[in-house]
Amino acid sequence: MDKQSANKLARELHELINTYNYEYNVLDKPSVPDSEYDRLMQELLKLEEAFPELKTSDSPTQRVGGTVLAAFQKVVHKTPMLSLGNAFNEADLRDFDRRVKQSVGDDVQYVVELKIDGLAVSLRYENGLFVQGATRGDGTTGEDITENLKTIRSIPLRLKKELSFEVRGEAFMPKKSFEKLNELRLQLEEEPFANPRNAAAGSIRQLDPKIAAKRNLDIFVYSIADLGGTGVEKHSEALDLLEEVGFKTNQERRKCETIEEVLTIIEDLQEKRANLSYDIDGIVIKVDSLAQQEELGFTAKSPRWAIAYKFPAEEVMTKLVDIELSVGRTGVITPTALLEPVRVAGTTVQRASLHNEDLIREKDIKIGDTVVVKKAGDIIPEVVNVLIDLRTGEEQTFSMPTHCPACESELVRIEGEVALRCINPQCPAQIKEGLIHFVSRNAMNIDGLGERVVAQLFQEGLIKDVADLYRLTRDQLLELERMGEKSTDNLLNAIVQSKENSLERLLFGLGIRHVGAKAAKTLAQEFETIEILQQATKDELIAINEIGDKMADAVVTYFDNPDVQYLVNELKSLGVNTTYKGPKLIRVEDSDSYLAGKTVVLTGKLEQLSRNEAKEGIEALGGKVTGSVSKSTDLVVAGESAGSKLKKAQELNIEIWDEARLFDELNK
Ligand code: NAD
Repeated sequence: MDKQSANKLARELHELINTYNYEYNVLDKPSVPDSEYDRLMQELLKLEEAFPELKTSDSPTQRVGGTVLAAFQKVVHKTPMLSLGNAFNEADLRDFDRRVKQSVGDDVQYVVELKIDGLAVSLRYENGLFVQGATRGDGTTGEDITENLKTIRSIPLRLKKELSFEVRGEAFMPKKSFEKLNELRLQLEEEPFANPRNAAAGSIRQLDPKIAAKRNLDIFVYSIADLGGTGVEKHSEALDLLEEVGFKTNQERRKCETIEEVLTIIEDLQEKRANLSYDIDGIVIKVDSLAQQEELGFTAKSPRWAIAYKFPAEEVMTKLVDIELSVGRTGVITPTALLEPVRVAGTTVQRASLHNEDLIREKDIKIGDTVVVKKAGDIIPEVVNVLIDLRTGEEQTFSMPTHCPACESELVRIEGEVALRCINPQCPAQIKEGLIHFVSRNAMNIDGLGERVVAQLFQEGLIKDVADLYRLTRDQLLELERMGEKSTDNLLNAIVQSKENSLERLLFGLGIRHVGAKAAKTLAQEFETIEILQQATKDELIAINEIGDKMADAVVTYFDNPDVQYLVNELKSLGVNTTYKGPKLIRVEDSDSYLAGKTVVLTGKLEQLSRNEAKEGIEALGGKVTGSVSKSTDLVVAGESAGSKLKKAQELNIEIWDEARLFDELNK
C-alpha cells in the first residue's frame, strides 16, 4: 500500500471508530458488535505499525474512548484511567510475557482476573469515608456520579480502616437484573438495552439517582490507583487489602508463576463464563509486583504491565448471501440464512436458523444484508439483527414460496401457527426427515445410521418407509459410498437389535403429531401393546392424565389411516417388537395401598429415603407426587425442618405423615 492510500484508509478508520466510540460510550447504544470495533482497531494498529507517521495524537489508538457529558460536574483524575491492551490468542499473550520480561527480567509473577463487562469507575475515600465517585470519561477527566454510586449497596460508604486513597473498579449490571430491566422496558414500550454493559452505563449516568437506585447495579473493585500510605507492594496484596476494608472484590483471581500457568487458568475461567451471574468479556493479566509495574510504565492509552485477553467473539458481523428453505419431518418449512463464512465463538459459521417467516419480517431481513450473527455456547447460530445503515439498496426482499420446494404441492398456514406447512404425506423431504427421526437416538436408536446414510439410502430408493430399513441386505449396504465390511456388519447388527426396543421407542419414532418422547412413554405404559393402542378411542386417551385433546385426536387419526395399519403389520411381520417392556404402571385399582390414587407432597429433609426413592416408592403403589401443596393434595410427608409447605398443609387441614410412617407404608 502506498502512503496516500494508507493515509486515506487511516482517516476512514478514524471516522468509523470515532463514530462507534461515540455510540458506545456516550449514547450507550452500539450499532455494531464489539468484534467489529475490535477488528477495525486492530486494522488501524497494523496500519500505524507499517506507517508510523500515521500514529498521531488524535488517533483512536492513542486515546481512551469515552467523552465527558456536560450534564455532570467534571472530575479530573489524579491518576489517569486508562484502557487495556488486547490479546486475542496465545501468541499475543506470549508476546506480552516476552515484552514484560525484556523490561524487568525473568522473575515475574502474574495475577489473572476476570474482565468484568461493565464500566470503569473511580472511588475516592478520605479518612475512610466515600467522598467522590467518577466515570472514566476520556481517561483524564470523568463525570461526577457520586450520588448514583451511593445507590450501589456493595460500595462501602465508610471503610473498616481510615484510609485516604482512590480505588478503581467495574460497575456492572448482573444478568438477571438486565433481563428484568429489559422486560420492563418492553412493557413500557421503551427500547431495550443491547447488553448488560450498556444498561449499566446508561443507568449510572442517570441524572436522577432514584432511577439508578432501581437498576440493581453492583461493583467489583480491582485496584488502588494511588496507594497513599497503604504500604502494599503487590497487586495481589492490594486486592486483599481492598477486601479487608470492606470492598467487594472478585474471588476468581489467581496468582501465576509462569505464562503457561496463565494459559491454563484462562481455559478454566473461560469454562466458568456461562455460569457466572454477570457478563465478562475476557481475562485480565497483570504483573503482580508494583515496583515492576512502575518500571514498565504506560503507553498513551494503556499500562504496559497488564493485558486483556479477549474471548472469541460471540457476536460478529457478516453478509447474508441467501435464504434456503428446508422441509421438516412434519412438513414445516424452515428458512435458513446462508452466510459468508465467519468465525463465531471459535468455530466457522455458514448457516443460521431464521425459524419462520414472521421472524424474517420482524427483523426486516433481506438477502444481501449485513447482519449480526450470534453463537453462545452450544446454541445454533442465530441472526440477531440487521445493520440497516450498511444497506446499499441492492438488497432483496425475501418472500416465502407458495409451493413446497421438495414436492411442489401448495403450502398451507394452519390457523394459529406461524409456520408454513407442506401437507402432502408423500412429500419426499418429509419422508426422508421422518426416516432420520425414526433411527435417531431417542427413537429406535440405530447406531451407524446417521443422516448422511439415511439420505443416501432414500435417494437410491432402497428405503421408502421405515419398514424397508428391516429389509436392507448386506449387499445393498456394501454398495453405498464409504461403507466398508465392518461398518456394514455393525449397522446390520444395530438394525436387528433395534427390533427388540420397547414400544415407546417405536411410537416416538413413528412421528405421530404432538407425540413426543414423554407422551410416547405414557402411551406405551398405559396401553402396553400397539394393537391395544390402535383400538383406543379418543375418550380412553383423554382419560389419561398427560394426554390432552389435541394429542388424543392426533393418535386416533394416525391409527385410523389404512397406510399406517399396513405399516404396523409390516413392522410386526419383520419382527419388530410392538409391546412395552419397561416397568409396569401401577393402576390405582390394582394397588391395595393406602397411597393408591393419592396426591402426595414431600417436604423437608428425609433421612432414611432419598427424595427419588420416596417418589418412586409412592408411584409404585399407585400414588402421585407433586411439588406444591394445594387443595387437591391428599397427603403431605414432612421430614426434618419442613417449612412453608408443612404450614400450608396444616392450614388446609391436609393429612400429614412423618417419614417413618411413609417408610412403613412403602415396606408393607
Ligand atoms: P477494554 O474494555 O478493552 O479494557 C479496559 C477496561 O477493562 C477498563 O477500563 C476496565 O473498565 C475494564 N476492566 C474490567 N475488569 C477489569 C479488571 N479486572 N482489571 C482491570 N480492568 C478491568 O477497553 P476500553 O477502552 O474500555 O473499551 C474498548 C472495548 O469496548 C472494545 O474492545 C470493544 O469491545 C468495546 N467497544 C465497542 C464499541 C462498539 O461500537 N461496539 C465501541 C467502542 C468500544
